[in-house]
Amino acid sequence: MNTDILGLDTVAAISTPYGRGGIAVIRISGERAFDIADKVFKVAGGVLPSSIDANLMKYGHICYNNELIDSGMIVRFAAPHSYTGEDAVEISCHGGVLVSKKVLQAVFEAGALPAGPGEFTKRAFMNGKLSLSQAEAVIGIIDAESTKALRLALSHASGTLTKKINALYDELADLLARSYVYSDYPDEDLSDLTVDEMKRGLNRVLEELEALYATYENARSVNEGIYTVITGKPNTGKSSLFNLLLGKNRAIVSDIEGTTRDFIEDNVSINGVLLKLCDTAGIRKSQDRLENAGIERSLELLDRAELVIAVFDSSCAADERDIAIIEQISKKKRCRKIALLNKSDLGDAFSADLSSFDFVIKTDAVTPFGINELERAVLSMFDAGDIDFSEQATIANARQAASIRASCNALIHGIRTLEDGYTQDIAGLDIEEALARLGESDGRQVSEDIVDRIFHNFCVGK
Ligand code: GDP
Repeated sequence: MNTDILGLDTVAAISTPYGRGGIAVIRISGERAFDIADKVFKVAGGVLPSSIDANLMKYGHICYNNELIDSGMIVRFAAPHSYTGEDAVEISCHGGVLVSKKVLQAVFEAGALPAGPGEFTKRAFMNGKLSLSQAEAVIGIIDAESTKALRLALSHASGTLTKKINALYDELADLLARSYVYSDYPDEDLSDLTVDEMKRGLNRVLEELEALYATYENARSVNEGIYTVITGKPNTGKSSLFNLLLGKNRAIVSDIEGTTRDFIEDNVSINGVLLKLCDTAGIRKSQDRLENAGIERSLELLDRAELVIAVFDSSCAADERDIAIIEQISKKKRCRKIALLNKSDLGDAFSADLSSFDFVIKTDAVTPFGINELERAVLSMFDAGDIDFSEQATIANARQAASIRASCNALIHGIRTLEDGYTQDIAGLDIEEALARLGESDGRQVSEDIVDRIFHNFCVGK
């Protein structure tokens, strides 16, 4: 095992996508990066890679053990002015599968170890080059499926959220320090912070944190997607509508991997609002005789739904299965609901109490008709409008949202403690909790386990 004595191992990976392409970039980072580069790269003119000017590309040959592997470009980044904050080298070679692998192999033989998923970004985080939310934004940029999602990720990468969280963290830390003055010298009346001042300070931070928490809704609709279930009894046109929505937006449709395939899931972006569409009609297609089981399953999926699109056959009178679905949906809280009276081209015999739905829209999945109205309804419910993500700090994901929520709850508790007549040092315990949770949201106090889990979502080479 080749472990550097003073620091982390020097690691390497191909940072461009695996496969045939114009160029491949092999990234090397760590204390031995320059030494390894000297062993595998001969810069034209005979200068050693470790001696070339930093940040300037040089042409040369990639060879190892006297075997010429390829020609290409090399660039050297000296710590701390690199992506990872460590000494780093990037070698660009021809983008063939074999040739890029051979270059990487040579780099390994010269002393580097294979980089794990997201290892370069993780090192950037560990070396203080990026906050956790900025590191998460890197995945956001890579995974962005709409211009809005990309803008949001870019805003996080530039540190808008980090700055906001840091400012609130400092404000709370200051309140905490001043409450400790009281706890250390309770009889001396040394506190320069009255209970009222402390309450005002906590309320101010709480207000800002609540506003920050509320931004999660906007980010979620562009980033993570609204879990949307299309439901209704068989043959009402669910699959046709599902395909229509996907077909209209084909450019940004992608399969979600790893889901059970007894229903169909796909992502669709409607003008920047990402819907995680789930069509329960798939059950019926594979297990014809289990129609009713299919409906039950779709009712189970309804539990998770944040948006339900219920499809009814407009040409037939409502029967007890339609009524059962309507009743089930009307019980759901914190969920938006759209009723589609599909097959409207065949008649309008359907009649039922649809007052629990936010929208009732007539559609015809064949012509098609009504789809634009359906999209407008979705936008009116979930579109954050043209929020300037570059200006406004916005929470990007469920992890950050949970930390901010926990921080708010601790502050609410602290304020109540003061209102109940307890002293500032008792409320200080709640401030400590609020600080810990806030620190978690952007990596100041995050556990190693969470850091590992976050970086595991990255690809190798990033
Ligand atoms: P599902 O079982 O609810 O998924 O329904 P499907 O999408 O498979 O549709 C059942 C049948 O109804 C198919 O033959 C469709 O072509 C047809 N269909 C779906 N929507 C409409 C519509 O709006 N009008 C008409 N006339 N036929 C439709």
